[in-house]
Amino acid sequence: MKNVTLLGGTGSIGLQTMDVIREHSERFSLFAFAFHKNIEKALPIIKEFQPKFVVVINQDAKSKLEHYSLPNTKILDSVEAMKEVATHPEVDIVVNAVLGSVGLDATLGAIQAKKQIAFANKETLVTAGHIVMKEAKKHGVELLPVDSEHAAIHQCLRGENIREAERIILTASGGSFRDLSRDELKEVTLQDALKHPNWSMGAKITVDSATMMNKGLEVIEAHWLFGMPYDHIDVVLHRESVIHSIVEFQDKSMMAQLGTPDMRIPIQYALGYPERLEFPLGKGLNLMEVGKLHFQEMDFNRFPGLKLAYFAGKTGGTMPTVFNAANEEAVHQFLNGNISFLSIEQFVERALHEHTTILDPDLHTIVQIDQDIRRQVRTYVN
Ligand code: NDP
Ligand code: MG
Repeated sequence: MKNVTLLGGTGSIGLQTMDVIREHSERFSLFAFAFHKNIEKALPIIKEFQPKFVVVINQDAKSKLEHYSLPNTKILDSVEAMKEVATHPEVDIVVNAVLGSVGLDATLGAIQAKKQIAFANKETLVTAGHIVMKEAKKHGVELLPVDSEHAAIHQCLRGENIREAERIILTASGGSFRDLSRDELKEVTLQDALKHPNWSMGAKITVDSATMMNKGLEVIEAHWLFGMPYDHIDVVLHRESVIHSIVEFQDKSMMAQLGTPDMRIPIQYALGYPERLEFPLGKGLNLMEVGKLHFQEMDFNRFPGLKLAYFAGKTGGTMPTVFNAANEEAVHQFLNGNISFLSIEQFVERALHEHTTILDPDLHTIVQIDQDIRRQVRTYVN
């Protein structure tokens, strides 16, 4: 039986992780559960699984939670506590499904404590990839990707020599607005942006898919996870989301991983690794039903967010931190109805343009820049 700490448990990935834990209750036990403030989603899980620890960041939510009788659960309430439950000696697996760079400290803690890490929280790797990967190497810990593209690449590389891999090809569905022109994007609403054609996900990543910022974050994520230079990471538009990503080797052989667009598959892969567990929860892929697959070159003028991500990644230093922080803040403003859809990429571009990169930043610098950029983007709104 493996004890699991789940960070970001009330989110889209978090709830699907709970499906996997419930389905494989003979293998996994929920030890700690962390979330921000969504009591309605958290409470049934806490009652059902009675984790030893619950971390709730928001103080009002904590006060409300304390009104319930939860005799077997200790309630904590800080970002530091997230790190505590991620490093607890009784924990075997940490699932990091928190949204945003707030998950950085807990990620580093889990690495230092040598936990098995199922890793969804891509913003953390984008904001401080060089630090996270250095720690992972130092402690001999592998980050097991939950992001479907990276889980696909991880599977394509199983048993292979990474030095023989020449190119990573990330597939992109195109998001909610893939059939709209730049001109038509001027009119789109928040409701439109939240209708993803293939995947059901949290609000922020659904908007990121529509701007293609998500694929940009994933390019940087792939760079760090697999040590691949940016010139060897491509993105291809693949509307069906059946191929989750591809690796090309030096003999020009390609390996791809296919499956239904169901995040519980990569979540379970990371939890069960190195074993492959049964998946009674969902459907397998019916190739006859799929029929045809389509691939299309990415248009960087149509999706400038992706161009910005390559720029940030290749420049390095603090530029990816700026890319991520500006995007997180801009999407937050868009979700609150304060800015238009197209302002997101304009704000990210402006933040990158106004920033002079600092090479090899330490953790303190990254945290500082992250906060400064969020503040700066808020001034753009006004
Ligand atoms: P959601 O918005 O659905 O959930 C986010 C989770 O993080 C919630 O549990 C939320 O708590 C918690 N959270 C938010 N802010 C804080 C904070 N300040 N401190 C602590 N916890 C916080 O996001 P997703 O599940 O969609 O995404 C989570 C991560 O997984 C992201 O990094 C995303 O990029 C990645 N990912 C998601 C995929 C998906 O299919 N959804 C696919 C691939 C990657 P509360 O509910 O209480 O607000
Ligand atoms: Mg993805």
